[in-house]
Amino acid sequence: MRLPKWILTLYISILVISVSHSQIDVDTTYKSLYNSLYLYDTPYEFRADPEIEERIFFFANRLGIFTSFEQKSSSINGIGVIQDSSRYLLLYNRVEVKKLIRNNPLLADVMILHSLAHIARGHQCDDVFRIREESAVFKYIGQAAYQLGIAKTVEELQQAIENDEYAYSFILPLPLRYELLQKGWASIDAIIKSNDNLGYLDNKNVQENLPLPVFNKTGCPQRYKLPLLYFNNCKTLADIDSLLSPALKKLGYTQLSYYYVPGGYVILTPVEQINQNGKALQGKERWQDYPAGGRFEGIMDYLSSLVLPRPGYFRLFAFVVTNQFIEKNDGKVDGKIARSWLENGGDWLPREIAEIKIDGHHITSLLYEFEVPESTQKMSERCTNQLFKAEQHLKHAGILNSFLP
Ligand SMILES: [Zn+2]
Repeated sequence: MRLPKWILTLYISILVISVSHSQIDVDTTYKSLYNSLYLYDTPYEFRADPEIEERIFFFANRLGIFTSFEQKSSSINGIGVIQDSSRYLLLYNRVEVKKLIRNNPLLADVMILHSLAHIARGHQCDDVFRIREESAVFKYIGQAAYQLGIAKTVEELQQAIENDEYAYSFILPLPLRYELLQKGWASIDAIIKSNDNLGYLDNKNVQENLPLPVFNKTGCPQRYKLPLLYFNNCKTLADIDSLLSPALKKLGYTQLSYYYVPGGYVILTPVEQINQNGKALQGKERWQDYPAGGRFEGIMDYLSSLVLPRPGYFRLFAFVVTNQFIEKNDGKVDGKIARSWLENGGDWLPREIAEIKIDGHHITSLLYEFEVPESTQKMSERCTNQLFKAEQHLKHAGILNSFLP
C-alpha cells in the first residue's frame, strides 16, 4: 500500500531537513524495513500500541530473544529494525500494523518475526550482506512459526505472504522465500521428531535433516591448533562458541556459517579479500554478498558470478571444534565450493550441538588460501607457495590476539 504522494513528499522533506549527510531513498511501499542510518533522525516517537507491543514481546520471550532492543512506534510503513552499534530499534507503524492484524494476521506475525529474526541473529543490518541476512531471516521465520504454532502448515505461511507486496521482493523473490521457509520449518520438525534420541546426530539418515549440514572437509587447508588455554573455562560446546563467534564478529566476520561434524561443529568465515601482507581489504572490497541456507541454481544464479572483477588473494577460516578425527575427502576447493559452504551453512549453533559437554575437544583452525590470477580471473585454491602459514594468517587477521587476555 502506497502512501499518498503528498505525505511522502512531506515525509521526505522532513528527512531532508533533519538529515543533510545521507541520501534519501525511503520507499514506504515495503513492509519490514531494514537498516537505515537516516531513520535515527526521522520522526518515530509516536504513541505506543499495547496490543502490538504485547505481541512482539510474547514472541520474543517464547523464542528466547533476550537481546535488549527498544520498540518505537514510527512513521515508517510497516515494521522495521535498525541497528546502532550494540542496540537494535524495532520500529512499527501502529496504524499500518493494526490494519494488517485485522486483514492478514498471519502476515502481521510473519513481519514481527522478520524483525525479531534480524535481532535474534545479531544481524548487521547494512547493505554489505543484505541478501544473506534477508535469506537467513526467512529460514528463521519457518523455524519460529513452527515453534510458536502460528501456522498449521508451511503452505499457510506462504499464502500469507504471497498476496502482499512484501519486503523488497527484488532482493529475495518469492520462490526463494518459500524454499527458505520450508527449510526452516523442516529443520525444527526433524528435531522434534527425533526428540532426545541419544546419538541421533551421528545417524546418517538423520544427518540429512539436521539443523546443520555436514561439513565436507576437502581441499588443502593449512592447520593450526588453537591453544587450549584460551578455552580453559569452557564446559560445553556452546561456551566455545560464545568465545569464538563474538571474537570473529568483532573483527568484521559478522556472517558466520555453521556446519556439523561428528563430535562437534565447524564455524566458517566468509571468503575475504586480502592484500599481499595478509591484511583484509577495507569496505565492500573485502566481501561479496551471497544468500544463506538455500539452493539457488536456476532462481537467482548467484553461483554463475564466479568470475571476480580483479586479480587478488582471498582466504577463508574454518574452526573445527571436535573430539573426533574428521576424515578428509579428495579434491580442491574452488570459488564455487567456497561460496556454497557459506551459502548453505547454518547461522547459529543449534541447541542439540551446543549442549554437548566438552570431553577432549580441540579447536583446529583450517586456513584456505585462494588466488585469482589475472589470466583466468577464476578463484582457485593455493596448495603450494601460500602467502603465509596458518598461524600468521590468524595473527594478520587479528584472530589470535583477540583471545589473549
Ligand atoms: Zn529484513
